[in-house]
Amino acid sequence: MMIVTMEDLPDTPLQDLKPARGRFNSNNVVPLLERFYPAQQIQVMRDHGVDQRMMFGINPYYMALVRGEEYRDAEGKVVLPAMPPSKPLEALVVPILAEAEDMSGEKDPSNQIRYSPGSLKGRILHKYDEIVLGYTALACSAHCRYCYRLDIFNGSTGKGLIKPENLKAYILDYNTALAANGGRDAGTGEPRYPIREVLLSGGDPMVLSNKNVYKYMAAAAEAGVHLVRVGTKEMAFRPQRFDKNFTRTLEFFHQQFPDVHVNFVVHFTHPDEMLERDVNNNYICNEAGYYRWLAPVREALDAVQRFDFVSVENQTPIIARVNDDALSLRILQEELRRNNVKPKYLFQCREIEGHTAFAVPVEKAWALHNESQKGLSDTARSRYTMSTEAGKLEVVSVIDGPPAGAHGQWPTAVTNVFGEGVVVMKVHRSPHSATSQGDLIIARRNPNALWLSDYEDRIVYDGRREEGEKYKRLEAVKWSDDLLLA
Ligand code: SF4
Repeated sequence: MMIVTMEDLPDTPLQDLKPARGRFNSNNVVPLLERFYPAQQIQVMRDHGVDQRMMFGINPYYMALVRGEEYRDAEGKVVLPAMPPSKPLEALVVPILAEAEDMSGEKDPSNQIRYSPGSLKGRILHKYDEIVLGYTALACSAHCRYCYRLDIFNGSTGKGLIKPENLKAYILDYNTALAANGGRDAGTGEPRYPIREVLLSGGDPMVLSNKNVYKYMAAAAEAGVHLVRVGTKEMAFRPQRFDKNFTRTLEFFHQQFPDVHVNFVVHFTHPDEMLERDVNNNYICNEAGYYRWLAPVREALDAVQRFDFVSVENQTPIIARVNDDALSLRILQEELRRNNVKPKYLFQCREIEGHTAFAVPVEKAWALHNESQKGLSDTARSRYTMSTEAGKLEVVSVIDGPPAGAHGQWPTAVTNVFGEGVVVMKVHRSPHSATSQGDLIIARRNPNALWLSDYEDRIVYDGRREEGEKYKRLEAVKWSDDLLLA
């Protein structure tokens, strides 16, 4: 059928791949959970509020991948071969009691609501001048237990959906007002930047119908953005979503807006989501020595990568028991790059409620990431980053303190700052006028730190602060005369 208007866009048939979601007493969910736990243990988790923290959710394809079961499509064709169960993927989606045992953390991690402008509070984020994030869906086709959008699913911070027309109006109004003010902030006079990108987020925008995905993309394009990004885990959770009907949607979009680039920000967390494994749980190589990809994932990538106006990048957090090993991270990055998916960020798990069950300590995660980059060329590398209220902080290095007595006694000031070693973070992205971009945060080490908050009382140089305030914490350091002699 010829696509002439948006109304002609056919939807992607996903009847056999519908997710089951619910609390742990839901009829949909109980039989699925019982494949992992005895009924009594499910009840214990329920009594401890694990399902109040987050519902269980999974679709049949991903369930088969987790369980290592053969999966056939509606025509009986084998889509996934039988493989050993995947422990990392099980840890990604299957709830554990520890999630609710320590609920310390933030309802709205990184205080995102601070960057949600008044008129559309809770519906968009406008933290970095050049890009607006819109919440377009309140669901995903499976639930990552570490999800930092918990508040959206639980409705606990009042966030909700943006309408396409409101997204478009916001961009046009912002850009018009900025241009009228000569590209400067009306209050401070600092340079500001026009919105040139939109990130469709959620939940997962790819759970929407093709028509609705198109409506959001078109709204952004009509507002004049250069790049529409779609943040999605469907390439891993339910790759069948990227079928020929969706590619017709992309084609139609390109016909209407030939100058706008489309960027999929996908979310592969572990190579088990992409690669086929043998009975011994080893990734299978073809005759030429390359890893063999799961057919549905390869097909999904092929579907979007045939367009020259489309690019694909990956980002994922480092999560305990899921991908906290350097070899898996290296294979993940290398295989993505070989398949034309740029590894972008490996994130620290955000400080969500219950994060202690998932977060790898910052310094350990840095070491894992650093190890995973060895043997990778620049083109396959990622940045290990904490997405904080003050912007994206790349954890650049973690160093030990000086060895005691190597050069006689170290001056007190040196040992006060460097004695336990330091963590160096670079402000990779900074909100609004990007005033702190490129600056550093240097903190004394804390091997137990799970987030920036665990370093706040150890920071010796703070690039987030105003000039003249950045070394403020050093005033607490007892300086010694021998510093001058060192
Ligand atoms: S795909 Fe993203 S939004 Fe959805 S559950 Fe996972 S982390 Fe959360």
